[in-house]
Amino acid sequence: MPQTIGTGKKIGILTSGGDAQGMNAAVRAVVRTALSLGADVYAIYEGYQGMIDGGRGIRRFGWDDVGAILHQGGTVIGTFRSAEFRERDGRRKAARNLVEAGIDRLVVIGGDGSLSGLNAFRGEWPELLTELVADRRLTQEQADAHPALMIAGLVGSIDNDLVGTDMTIGADSALHRIVDAIDALASTAASHQRSFVVEVMGRHCGYLALMAAVAGGCDYVLIPENPPAPGWEDKMCVELQRGRKAGRRDSIVLVAEGATDRAGNPITADQVKRIIEERLKEDTRVTILGHVQRGGSPSAFDRWCSTWLGYQAAHEVLSASADTEGPVLGFRGNRVAPVPLMEAVRQTRQVPELIAAGDFEGAMALRGRSFAAMQRIFAELAEPSRVEVGSGAKRIGIVHAGGLAPGMNTAARAAVRLGISRGHTMLGIRNGFVGLRDGQIEEMTWSDVEGWTANGGAELGLRRTIPSVEHLYSISRQLEVHNVDALLVIGGWNAYQSAHLLYTERERYPKFRLPMICIPASIDNNLPGSELAIGADTALNVIVEAVDRIKLSASATKRSYVIETMGRYCGYLALMGGLAGGAERVYLHETGITLEQLGTDVAWLRDSFTKGRRFYLAMRNENASVGYTTDVISRILEEEGGSLYDVRTAVLGHLQQGGSPTPFDRLLATRLVSRGLDLISAELTGGTAESYYVGLVESKVSASPMSQMLTEMDREFRRPKNQWWMELREVVSAVSDAPR
Ligand code: ADP
Repeated sequence: MPQTIGTGKKIGILTSGGDAQGMNAAVRAVVRTALSLGADVYAIYEGYQGMIDGGRGIRRFGWDDVGAILHQGGTVIGTFRSAEFRERDGRRKAARNLVEAGIDRLVVIGGDGSLSGLNAFRGEWPELLTELVADRRLTQEQADAHPALMIAGLVGSIDNDLVGTDMTIGADSALHRIVDAIDALASTAASHQRSFVVEVMGRHCGYLALMAAVAGGCDYVLIPENPPAPGWEDKMCVELQRGRKAGRRDSIVLVAEGATDRAGNPITADQVKRIIEERLKEDTRVTILGHVQRGGSPSAFDRWCSTWLGYQAAHEVLSASADTEGPVLGFRGNRVAPVPLMEAVRQTRQVPELIAAGDFEGAMALRGRSFAAMQRIFAELAEPSRVEVGSGAKRIGIVHAGGLAPGMNTAARAAVRLGISRGHTMLGIRNGFVGLRDGQIEEMTWSDVEGWTANGGAELGLRRTIPSVEHLYSISRQLEVHNVDALLVIGGWNAYQSAHLLYTERERYPKFRLPMICIPASIDNNLPGSELAIGADTALNVIVEAVDRIKLSASATKRSYVIETMGRYCGYLALMGGLAGGAERVYLHETGITLEQLGTDVAWLRDSFTKGRRFYLAMRNENASVGYTTDVISRILEEEGGSLYDVRTAVLGHLQQGGSPTPFDRLLATRLVSRGLDLISAELTGGTAESYYVGLVESKVSASPMSQMLTEMDREFRRPKNQWWMELREVVSAVSDAPR
C-alpha cells in the first residue's frame, strides 16, 4: 500500500451508541494509520451529534492526541445516542458540517444501530447535498467536490450480539469483568456455603452469560436464546442440590438480563433467588453486575484486536472510491474480515423475533455452531447428575507436560467432568511423563476438580522431561497395569514430543497403540495445529498490565524502557504484547536484530525525544538475539540518548506463567478438551487408535493426525513454520511510527 493513499483526503472518526472497552484502541489505530498514510484526521465528538453540532464537535487530530489512551476504558471522544441523527434534518446538518470541513470519509465504531444509521447516511448523501445546495447552505462547487460519502464501520458492543462476527469490540473485556466477579463471589459463597444469583448484561444475546458460566464454573445459566422448558425451577433445584451432594460448597446461577421462560415471561435474578430460598432453604444473594461490565481497562485482546481493526478500517476508507459500498469490518476466523452489514443487522434483529415466536432453535442457530456447542458443554460440565460411571467404562489418562501454562487446571477439570459425563473413568497422572513412568496414576472423581477453573498452576503437577528410551518399557508397563485406554496430553512442545515419541514406538511397545490427543497449552503459543494455545492470552494480559504500570511509573520523567518477554524462540508474546501495550519497537528472533536497525532506532528515538516525546517502549523477546541482549540494547539507548532520557529494563520473567487463566483461556481449554474427548470416543468405539493434536484454526476447533506433527514445525527453533500473527508487524509500525 503506497504511503500516499491518504494524501489530500480528510477522514472523520466517531464512536456511537453504547461505549465499549477497546473503542479507544480502535480510535488510536484509525487516527495513526490514517496519518501514516498521509491523510488529515478529524475526531467527531459525542457520536453523530458532533457532526450535527459542528464547531468543537469536529476537531483535527494529530499523532499525540491519541497518546496514552490505549489502556483507557470507554471512549475519549465521547459517545451519544443522538435522536437528531435519526431525523433527516439532523443528517442534513451533519452532511453540511462534514462538507464544510472537507470530510467525505467516515469511520464509525458502534453497534448495529449506529452502523445502520451510517449506511443510511451514506445512501442519502447525494440527495442531502442536493437539498443543501438548493437551500443555499452549500455551494455547487462544495457539493461537487464531495459527490459521495465513503465509510467503514467497526462493531463496538460488549454484548457480542452482531451475527456474522465472532467477537465485537468490548465483549472480551466485559467477560473479564464478569468472570473476575464470579471468581470473587465463588470464594465468599464457598466460605458461607451460600448461593449467588448473578445478573449479567445481554437483552437479546446470551453470549456473556453463557461464556461466563462456562469460564466461571457456574451451576446454572439462563439465556434469552434458549429459555428453559416448563418445570425448569425444579430441574434447577435438583441440579443445585446434586452439586452440593457431590461436594460443591457454593452455587452460582447466572441470569442474562433478557432471560425469559418459554412463554416469554421475564425471569429475574430476584425470582431465581426466591425459588432457591424457598425450595432449597439456602441462603441466597443477588448481585447485579450492571455497568461494571462496560467499565475498566480493556483486555489485551480488546487492545490488539481493536488496533488491528482500526488499522484495516483506515486502509479501507482511504482506498475507497465513490462507488465502494463501504465495509463493516468484523473479527471472524481470528482475522479481520468484512461483514455484509445489512444482512448481519437483519439477522441480528431476527434473533429476538425468533425468540418471541418460540423458534429457539432458529435463534440458537443464528448465534453459530460454537455457541450451541458451548451450551451443550455447559450442561455436561455443570450437571452432576451423570457422575456414576458404568461398568465397561473406558479409562482415559490426563497428563500435563512442558512449561506451566495458566488454564491447565481448567483443561484438566473439563477433562474429568466431561469424561465422566460421557461415561469414562478419568485418571489423573501426576507429574508428567515421569509420573506416568512411576505409576502415579489415580482415578479422579467429579468433585476432585471442584474449584479448579479459576486456578493458575497445574494441580496434577507437570515436568518438562521427555521420556528417554530406557523409560519406555516402564511407561508401557504402567499403561498396562492401570488399564489406560487413551491419553489426553495437555501441555507444550515437550508434551507434544513425548506423545510423538510414544506414537513412533508403537511397533516395539504394542501398549502405545492407544488414542493419544495433544491439547496445546503454552504461554509461548508455539505449537503446531493451533493458532492459539491455552495460556497465551493470560500471559498477554499479564504483560499488558505490567506495561500499564511501567508507563505510570515513568510518567513523571523522560524515559525509555526495554521490556523482555518470554516465548523462547517464538515472538508471539513480544509482538502481541507490544501491539496491545503500545510499544514503539518490537524485537523478535524471527526477524533478528542488526546493528544497522539499532542505529536507525536510536536516531529516531533521539529525534523523537527532542521533539517532546516522554516515553518510549521496546519489547524484546528473550531470545531475539544472542548478542543484542536486553541489557546491551538498553546500554546502547542510554549511551546514545545522552541527557534526553534515561533508560530502564524490565524482565517480566515467570510472572507471565502465573495468574488465574483469562476467560478466553478457560473457554479455549474447555472447547479443545471436549473435542479431544470426542476424538477419543470415536477411536475407542471404532476400535481404532489414531492419535491427533487439536487446536484452533481460524476460530474452529480442528484436529490433525499425529503423523503430520513434525512437518509443521521449525524444529530447530521449536515454533510452527507458519505463524499467522507475523503479519501484525506492519500494524505495530503503522501505529507506533509517527511520520516525519
Ligand atoms: P448501538 O449503535 O449501540 O446499537 P443505538 O441503536 O442506540 O446503539 O444507536 C446509536 C445511535 O446511532 C442512535 O442514537 C442514532 O444516533 C444512530 N442511529 C441508530 N439507528 C439509526 C437509524 N436507523 N438511522 C439513523 N441513525 C441511527
